[in-house]
Amino acid sequence: MKVIPIGIWGGYPKANSATSSFLVEEDGFHLLIDCGSGVLSSLQNYVSIDALDAVIITHYHHDHIADIGPLHFAKLIQNQLAQDEKTLSIYAGDQDPRYKTLSYKNHTKTFPLYSTQQIGPFTIDTTPTNHPVHCLALKVKSKGKTVVFTADTGWQESLISFCKKADLLVSEANLYQSFEEKIPGHMSGRQAGLLAATAQVDQLILTHLPHFGELSDLVCEAQTEYKQEVSLAEVGKVYQV
Ligand SMILES: [Zn+2]
Repeated sequence: MKVIPIGIWGGYPKANSATSSFLVEEDGFHLLIDCGSGVLSSLQNYVSIDALDAVIITHYHHDHIADIGPLHFAKLIQNQLAQDEKTLSIYAGDQDPRYKTLSYKNHTKTFPLYSTQQIGPFTIDTTPTNHPVHCLALKVKSKGKTVVFTADTGWQESLISFCKKADLLVSEANLYQSFEEKIPGHMSGRQAGLLAATAQVDQLILTHLPHFGELSDLVCEAQTEYKQEVSLAEVGKVYQV
């Protein structure tokens, strides 16, 4: 499968950029993970909105859902132009009252995200993370390969078994090490490295990046714990797994 970062920022997008989001492709099926601010704009550099087959929302913070409204309008306009309604499936946790608002007429339809389910060619497992709101990490499996997306989370021991021996770990790294224990609900670059090392994954990329400091320090922190390949997620780069 292919993993393409669409945005890499936590909280809000930098200029001409997008918040953390990923496109996952297999056999022509296009799955978008999270749809925060700037994502629709960035996404169209890599795939047309009409070619999306499914969207997963990990949680309901603004930097993961801000572009859902524009996505509704994009589907409305494209369906009107095509005169042939194509409904886009959106998967999300159904505990939040905003779950229902993800559906829009016949243009998008919302489905609950379970602990295990099939979405197109992907088997997807989820597990709740350590975050101030209900948030789900995702394990995406296809053709014997596994990619784990931590979504937003503070350090959580149970993620080690969830990530075990993944081919690729896409971990949040919203903090520098000096902020560990001070800001809840997010991990440092070091903790992302520790997760990658203890889970024995093959490769680590960092996302949901902070707007301050030297981002390369996050990689250095991760490398103090994890001795294999680690890098900052690069928008538009195709990670073939
Ligand atoms: Zn969040």
